[in-house]
Amino acid sequence: MNKNIDNRILDSLKNELNRQKNHIELIASENYVSPAILQLNGSVLTNKYAEGYPGKRYYGGCQFIDEIESYGIELAKKLFNADHANLQPHSGSQANEAAYKTLLNPGDKVLSMSLDAGGHLTHGYNINFSGQLYDFVFYKVNRETEEIDYNEVEKLALEHRPKLILAGASSYTKIIDFKRFKEIADKIDAYFMVDMAHIAGLVAGGVHPNPFPYADIVTSTTHKTLRGSRGGIVLCKEQFSKKLDSAVFPGIQGGPLENQIAGKVQALSEASSEEFKQYAQQVIKNAKALADTLMENNIRLIANGTQNHTVIVEVKNSLGVTGKQAESILESIGIVVNKNMIPFDSEKPVNTSGIRLGSAAMTTRGFKEKEFKAVAQIIAKALKDHNDQNLDQLAQEVKQLCDNFPIYTDIKY
Ligand SMILES: *Cc1c(COP(=O)(O)O)cnc(C)c1O
Repeated sequence: MNKNIDNRILDSLKNELNRQKNHIELIASENYVSPAILQLNGSVLTNKYAEGYPGKRYYGGCQFIDEIESYGIELAKKLFNADHANLQPHSGSQANEAAYKTLLNPGDKVLSMSLDAGGHLTHGYNINFSGQLYDFVFYKVNRETEEIDYNEVEKLALEHRPKLILAGASSYTKIIDFKRFKEIADKIDAYFMVDMAHIAGLVAGGVHPNPFPYADIVTSTTHKTLRGSRGGIVLCKEQFSKKLDSAVFPGIQGGPLENQIAGKVQALSEASSEEFKQYAQQVIKNAKALADTLMENNIRLIANGTQNHTVIVEVKNSLGVTGKQAESILESIGIVVNKNMIPFDSEKPVNTSGIRLGSAAMTTRGFKEKEFKAVAQIIAKALKDHNDQNLDQLAQEVKQLCDNFPIYTDIKY
């Protein structure tokens, strides 16, 4: 099967498989997809052009592609209680681009969470298309609680009267009150959008409130907690469905990636199962075990803990290392995390005062509270005392945990 893969690619592929097997993955936005999804991503579906939508394509030979995409649309609508679904965005960023194009004209005002408070680049950052095309104003988090201050959101909404209010974040550890956001949006007759890229799997698994019926439009990635192919999805209320579909195609994209879409459909099917509900519950329990054990070690967490899959650790004052240093110390023992800004961070984005951890990937791998507590102890020890001997010992413990929970054992390259 792999005989014809260019050797340089094959070498890297083998190394990447080994890397994935032999480290503890705590990047909050990553996960391990099922073998079924890997197979669909690498299937013959990649050969097919299918511009347009099921039943309305601009190419012949789409009948089987139509079956898969239509099935996925049905699953997505049911799973998230949406009137309409579009599975074609190539990424979460493009899902957002399509959603903005559906609701806004260039120059329109949007209220969203700022990047440094936990928002995403596509929520109006000045060097992203979003910040260049639309007029964003930002809410942050409360300095004391480090949680969204809904009164501040309301005050900003009344002051700036945006056409759209956006909820959703890349590093925020608390449940988001969609109902409260909707009430604020209604006061100024604004649209309400939710970007649930990080929490879609938690919503699907019933451990985070669903943005519907409150949101007009909901975007997501499909590869984070939802555990599917890398890509995006947009869901909306009936009245936006036509505009949304034409915003995605022909608005911002050409041919959809049907091999990726099939992997999204498989993920939606998996996420509709009882097993996935248990997965989502375990993700939450594991993040809590990780958070509690770090706090027992006198390490400060942003917002004092977590209600979802993410934990944001303040390392600079707690432990005397920057986020960048913490990331590289942990990587040296086989724990992969990312440095992350904390609210009102005094460090530059290249250094940061924090790291972001997530429980989604290692929960897929079978870790329960016991293993997450062990991981938290390893992290605390490594960041408190990073002499070589200590780190060597901790690297052994990491290796043992990985060996106890093997992954992708059937894959041979
Ligand atoms: C990850 C993320 C995205 C972007 O997804 P990409 O697929 O990387 O483009 C958008 N919004 C939020 C909140 C995210 O966390």
